[in-house]
Amino acid sequence: MYITVHAAAGAAIGTLTLNPILAFIGGFISHLILDMIPHGDEGIQKCIWFKTKMQCTIAAALIDFIGVTILLIFLINRVDIALLPSIIAGMAGGIAPDALWGFHELTKTPLLGWYRRWHSNGHNFLTKKKINIIQGLLVQIPFLAVFVWFALQ
Ligand SMILES: [Zn+2]
Repeated sequence: MYITVHAAAGAAIGTLTLNPILAFIGGFISHLILDMIPHGDEGIQKCIWFKTKMQCTIAAALIDFIGVTILLIFLINRVDIALLPSIIAGMAGGIAPDALWGFHELTKTPLLGWYRRWHSNGHNFLTKKKINIIQGLLVQIPFLAVFVWFALQ
């Protein structure tokens, strides 16, 4: 799923746990679970605006980073300040699996080769069925709305 959705899930977990360490772990685990749901991200590496898969991936990551920033500002302005450490830790935990994946994509370090395969295989754990980007948005937007709603409780 988009990093913004993973960050929102982590924020919701941070609101529920009130503990930054548990929120980070919960955010990390939620990422792996959410990635099992078909979500149409595979198409972002075949965008029409750039020549290489890496350029498309970096552009998508930058757009997603803007989404995470907007989400963070939105939450900072609406939640009790005492919740922010666990919310931010949850968001970081939600983002961490894709950050590790991205670090491997950029560096090709053999230290994370196992992790890249494991993370990618998780996408096929429930089903190998792929959906397109539009269908993926229709899947991801309700998840984003529910997670933001939970984070605001
Ligand atoms: Zn992921």
